[in-house]
Amino acid sequence: MPYKICPYCEKISYSAADSPTVKWLCPHCEEDISHVEGQISVPSKTEAP
Ligand SMILES: [Zn+2]
Repeated sequence: MPYKICPYCEKISYSAADSPTVKWLCPHCEEDISHVEGQISVPSKTEAP
């Protein structure tokens, strides 16, 4: 499930569909976080750059 970390309230926002045509509003503070880079919760060995 894709998710984003809201830069405004720093809470995690989950989305059922990561569609670029739909605005991604934070459910906590209702800010538009469509521009925030999404994260994918995959239990793999991903290294941060
Ligand atoms: Zn927020």
